[in-house]
Amino acid sequence: MQWYKRSMFRNLVDMHIPNGEGYLEEFDPEQYAKCMEIAGVETAYVYASNCLGLCLYPSKVGYRHTITEKRDIFGETVKALRKRGIGVVGYLNSWNTEAAKRHPDWQIVSSNGFIRGEHTRFGTCCPNSPFRDHFLAMVHEMVSTYDIDGFWVDMIGFFAPDCTCKWCREKYKAQTGQELPDTINWTDPNFINYVRFKFDSVSQYAQEVSDTAKKARPGISVSFQCAGWNRAMDYGLHDDYYRTMDYVSGDFYASRHKTEVICRILPNLSENMPFEYMVSRAPHLSYHTGLKSKNELLHQACTALLCGGSFLFIDAIDPNGKLQEALYHTMGDIKRELMPFYKAVDHDAKILRDVAVYINFDSYTQRTAEGQPSHRIGDYRDIALNLEQINLNFSRAHIDYDILTEKNIHRLSDYKVVVVPDLYRMSQSECEKLAEYVAQGGRLYISGASSALSTDGTNKDRFMLSKVMGVEYDAFVDTQPIYLAPTQSGEPWFPGFTAEYPQMLPFAVPTATQISDTAQVLATLTYPLTDARDFRRYSSAISNPPGRVTDIPAVVYHRYGKGACLYSCAPIEQNKMDCNIEVFNKWICNLLEENGGLTLQCEETEYLSHVLRHNPQKRCYTVSLLNSQNVKKIVPLYNLEFSLKLDVQPKEIYTTLGRNVSWKIKEQFLHLTIDKLDLFDVVYITY
Ligand SMILES: [Zn+2]
Repeated sequence: MQWYKRSMFRNLVDMHIPNGEGYLEEFDPEQYAKCMEIAGVETAYVYASNCLGLCLYPSKVGYRHTITEKRDIFGETVKALRKRGIGVVGYLNSWNTEAAKRHPDWQIVSSNGFIRGEHTRFGTCCPNSPFRDHFLAMVHEMVSTYDIDGFWVDMIGFFAPDCTCKWCREKYKAQTGQELPDTINWTDPNFINYVRFKFDSVSQYAQEVSDTAKKARPGISVSFQCAGWNRAMDYGLHDDYYRTMDYVSGDFYASRHKTEVICRILPNLSENMPFEYMVSRAPHLSYHTGLKSKNELLHQACTALLCGGSFLFIDAIDPNGKLQEALYHTMGDIKRELMPFYKAVDHDAKILRDVAVYINFDSYTQRTAEGQPSHRIGDYRDIALNLEQINLNFSRAHIDYDILTEKNIHRLSDYKVVVVPDLYRMSQSECEKLAEYVAQGGRLYISGASSALSTDGTNKDRFMLSKVMGVEYDAFVDTQPIYLAPTQSGEPWFPGFTAEYPQMLPFAVPTATQISDTAQVLATLTYPLTDARDFRRYSSAISNPPGRVTDIPAVVYHRYGKGACLYSCAPIEQNKMDCNIEVFNKWICNLLEENGGLTLQCEETEYLSHVLRHNPQKRCYTVSLLNSQNVKKIVPLYNLEFSLKLDVQPKEIYTTLGRNVSWKIKEQFLHLTIDKLDLFDVVYITY
């Protein structure tokens, strides 16, 4: 079994220390390894080079840290860890200030002239430049020389909206016969080719790094930094990137809802489980001192665990090479609390979820970016931000959900409801698969301008999914806010709103025309008397009351094949107002209801998260429970009640922490009551 399948508790010590008198002189590999032992670290990620490009081993191909004139601190640490039976992952960083300084022409140059190394401490070299060979030589040397179980690379990607370095220009010209485009134009084949070129540059580089490492040490694991998943357009990370590694991994500084989003998408981007969730022991990497509280770190580890993820905590070394031992004692306490759960982790159990949110990386651009200089592609829509709101919405409705990308589009049929949140650019193949999903009985919620532009640029301002939606794209109308005015038959779908007092949303939206006789219009579009941005003319100074009633279909329910589609011109899932969240959740619950209902029902607080799993070989269901009521200080939940739709007769029901569970079966539901939940627990239902 690969080490990463059983190692759930890991550490990385940042060592971004420059050359200098005395720096790293007091580094003690025994203290380092002892700290790992105290914390119960199963696998330690150790720096072989840092973001400055300085190798911490006596490299013959890379730039060496001055400490390596006397010592091989990477090699000494590997030995000290091995002696204690702790697994080792060798760390290299693809950022390289030293290389950027010595080879200015290797650097990533954005079309707005920005060169990171000239304005920050960090030099970034283009993967299309000779830096690629420099880095691959480091990979081969380090991986073939040292006894390591895995290999991890930080900062692969462009981290810039575009690159116009001479290497990119030459390579692009050789591949396409064209010059780099200078304007964002989603129907210009040259611009579309360039975006693809950027994604491919990163994934092909990552693939070469991975191949080099696996050739240098057969059987080794390879993984790369994936924290930039939500900035696909400017970092250059697409689905292919995640295929180049054994498991995905990333360091995050996120709130509860964002953390839950990350822990829902990473497993689906990962080729293997567990994915790896990394957090700093400090409030942020820029804080050298200060620790997060024990509860906060434990809560983050449990959020990852809820979704089957391993946990890695990041420390930072002092410039003299010392570590602060106190942290490792705290981490040891955390590890002891996690152990009963880690021992029982079952990566073979299948997560059962009724709802999936489908996203793609091509859509995360601003519609208004069109016509702007190409470096403005970095004016992205933050994927995580949109999903964070959906996570909050679903936590209110007690819906556990998945996040899929094109990498897992073949799994659509596992879900009763699929949500497509305003995906402007979609491919023909994605649309065909979504249409097939609905035809076979799935329920699709789709919003905004989804599918109005094809990724290849050949379709614009026509819904590629119009047959499924029952409406066709008409025009984008730049008026905001807009109102959704329920029709008579649509009123039950709009709790709290009527045609006279319709639902306001602060968006400008596309209009549509009904093209199917069977489409049921649940709401029509009403415009405000005056636009919110007009400060000279208004009908009410602070709000923008509805006034211009139209018969434009705004929310449409349409049966298609054995399934149905609910289209909303407004991406209401992105609105944070309670009254609108209630409407969105009502829609999703209605769709769920007509397709079999929720498998796991729960009416507890929105601060409770749950994940249901099933392992048919072990004849066992599990429900993992996480209490996020108060991250700083645990406030227990008492007498938690659940209903689980079950077609088997339970034999034994218990929790990892041995809580009292009472249960009864009524109709097809197993009703469970758990007497208390502190932070995290897992309920086992064997049959
Ligand atoms: Zn370049």
